[in-house]
Amino acid sequence: MLEVKDISVRYGQHSALDRMSLQVAPGEIVVMLGANGAGKTSLLKALGGMVPAQPGARATLNGVDLMKLPQHDIVNAGLALVPEGRGVFGQLSVKDNLRLGALPKRARAGEAQMLERIVSLFPKLNLRMSQTVRTMSGGEQQMVAIGRALMSHPDILLLDEPSLGLSPLVCRELFSALRRIRELGIGVLLVEQNARQSLAIADRGYVVETGRVVGEGKAQALLHDPAVRKAYLGAA
Ligand code: ATP
Repeated sequence: MLEVKDISVRYGQHSALDRMSLQVAPGEIVVMLGANGAGKTSLLKALGGMVPAQPGARATLNGVDLMKLPQHDIVNAGLALVPEGRGVFGQLSVKDNLRLGALPKRARAGEAQMLERIVSLFPKLNLRMSQTVRTMSGGEQQMVAIGRALMSHPDILLLDEPSLGLSPLVCRELFSALRRIRELGIGVLLVEQNARQSLAIADRGYVVETGRVVGEGKAQALLHDPAVRKAYLGAA
């Protein structure tokens, strides 16, 4: 279980996150909705140890305090981040990108088993293990990025806008893969602009405005919430 309490991020004088609290349970998809600049990426970066959180934040994963750990130990604690723009190594093959994902200590023993799972989640990758990643489509690169994160055997997977720039068909494939990742017992925190499709697969959601949680609830309830419909689902 990921439990975050009162996390704040500042860039100089600018407050990007203001005492945000949230939880993600194993085998749960939680979506985070919010306009551009609401602070969603800052939250994921702070949890992944890429930007410092302000003192007073608590973020525990299975009881381990992530806020005290350097970045590589955060992965070893069970948290994996797929950043916006994917963060894959374009000049390397699919296989090498996946291997790099298995470098953390917690991943080594189960490398072959996880590789099998990733191939069954994304069968297309199996045919392209030797292909250089930069020659692949955006959707395929996103699969590599998610596969690489899964190689670290995460308990919680953080995804920043994975559907950005993908065609509707590829988006459907991606969201259906996320459902299957949930079935593996992994908790997924999903930052998405695509509110309709992400709420359709999610269990719960949070609505973020200017660095604060302004709404939360079951995904189905958010889908029918008039304010959410107006702001994020294009309803009149
Ligand atoms: P988007 O969907 O556009 O990525 P977001 O909800 O992920 O938005 P963040 O990227 O977390 O939002 O940004 C939150 C706020 O912090 C914004 O006002 C942004 O301009 C500011 N910000 C983000 N990164 C930095 C930085 N490195 N230096 C200064 N300000 C930053």
